[in-house]
Amino acid sequence: MTTLLPQNDPNPQRRQQFLQRQRYFYRYNFTYLPPLPFPDEVPDSEGFSAKYYGEQFKGITKLGLNLGAAKLDDLLDPFDNLDDYEKLFLGEPLLRKPFTSKTFLLDKEFAHQRIAGANPLIIERVDPAKLRDMLQKFPVTDAILQQVVDTEETLASAAAKGQLYLTDYALLEGMKLGSYKHWQKFVTAPLALFYWQSTGFADRGCLVPVAIQLYQKPRSDNPIFTRFDGANWFIAKTFVQIADGTYHELLAHLGFTHLVIVPFILATARQLADNHPLGILLRPHFQFTLAINDLARTQLINPGGFIEKILPGTLKASLSLVGKSIEESQFQDFALPNQLKRRGVEDSNLLPDYPYRDDAYLLWSAIEKFVTSYVNLYYKNDGDVVKDYELQEWVEELTSPDGGRVKGLTDDGKIDNLEKLIAAIVQIIFICGPQHAAVNYPQYDYGAFAPNIPAAGYAAPPTQKDNPDFHLDLSNPIKSLSPYLLKFLPPKEQAISQLTILYLLTSFQYNRLGYYDRRDFQDAKVQPLITAFQQNLHIIEDRINLRNTKRSQPYTFLKPSLIPNSINL
Ligand code: MN
Repeated sequence: MTTLLPQNDPNPQRRQQFLQRQRYFYRYNFTYLPPLPFPDEVPDSEGFSAKYYGEQFKGITKLGLNLGAAKLDDLLDPFDNLDDYEKLFLGEPLLRKPFTSKTFLLDKEFAHQRIAGANPLIIERVDPAKLRDMLQKFPVTDAILQQVVDTEETLASAAAKGQLYLTDYALLEGMKLGSYKHWQKFVTAPLALFYWQSTGFADRGCLVPVAIQLYQKPRSDNPIFTRFDGANWFIAKTFVQIADGTYHELLAHLGFTHLVIVPFILATARQLADNHPLGILLRPHFQFTLAINDLARTQLINPGGFIEKILPGTLKASLSLVGKSIEESQFQDFALPNQLKRRGVEDSNLLPDYPYRDDAYLLWSAIEKFVTSYVNLYYKNDGDVVKDYELQEWVEELTSPDGGRVKGLTDDGKIDNLEKLIAAIVQIIFICGPQHAAVNYPQYDYGAFAPNIPAAGYAAPPTQKDNPDFHLDLSNPIKSLSPYLLKFLPPKEQAISQLTILYLLTSFQYNRLGYYDRRDFQDAKVQPLITAFQQNLHIIEDRINLRNTKRSQPYTFLKPSLIPNSINL
């Protein structure tokens, strides 16, 4: 079958018949997680392959063997020691211990997870013009900054130099909290302030956590914690991790990758014929996404599913946060350059060490080159874009309230030139490949060991600063913190559920970005473009490997060889 734009196809009836069949199998349903579109039913042709089931089975087996051999019955529920969380992992060849089991108490690790962890998408630079607004809800003082980081800078001078960074989880404020057995679960809406400190070493510097406030409104029972607050500092950091984990799973991962892409899959299936060049380009990047999302529908977002079980909010509160956040966002806001600019973190002179940003940029431009060359094969000018009536129907359906409900697809919602077309396609492929990989695969190292990112808190956070009896024993910090920290962390069954789901969501990589099935592209003209794309990805791999030798910790999640083509896990 020849790859052709519809306006050049001598057999438009064949296309029409194909699309009519497709529209019968792919229908919108807005009731599963309102107001977001889901496929009413997943067509058989979208189901997992035998190879996929094989990989999945291997993961389940390994997990089962590990949990079976871990002597779980000998452990109390709830645990009586912080060490017990580590006992859930037996090590190779079963479940490797996440490295965070060794580092989770360190301030350096806490700060590093803002720029290279499971969710590197919240941190923002404190704009000097907005410092006053921040201080109104989070009244950190110059004295606190100077005491914590041993500097002469004031907040104003540090902000002016671009050295102040904030993570603000305001959108979790007032979330209705769920429960598990007799436990009330907790998440707060914290603010955490960081200072970028030059280390003089290649001037990469490092982020230092300065202060944490657990709720949005400054009050006497909502103090500002610093590292001078003993055990409370560790508890405050844990509540930031809980908020970050909640944001990560519901929004950064589920919402802004798995679900935000669904309208594009449905509109592509329903509006772009099987020989449409854009359909041919996009389909490999949509492989198994409807199938994995259907699994999410029946195991994660359902009553009694993982979201209700292990996350802090009620199921309704969690899902409405997902629905609302996507409904209120503009598709273009998720484009890498836009989301970095919005947070003020695009400039590597101000924030020299931001592994997610730096590696993501490389992938973004490789995808941009590939898509540009591909689009130019079929569209000679803007007129070809306008005349492509299937593409125009695709845009219409994507943005329609009865269809994809996508807002802000482009500045004016139209795709009437090459530039807008390329931008949209680049963004779609970036979400399916690198963006999903960046938030999916870190789930094991950062989340499977529950004390690093507890999926929820299990006791109310402290309302006062003092914790007079506490002495951190530096020779065994885990043991000395155990009596203070343990009650906030997930009980045994919950920690096992968290480990189970996060292991399964990271247990294998089905395929590799830029490596397509021979049958995906039948037009011989495409092969050299794919080869060039693959070469670029190899160069990027080498660059990231080199960067990793100079980073305080290697950042591997955006190595091209570790990124699948589609959201399938
Ligand atoms: Mn995923």
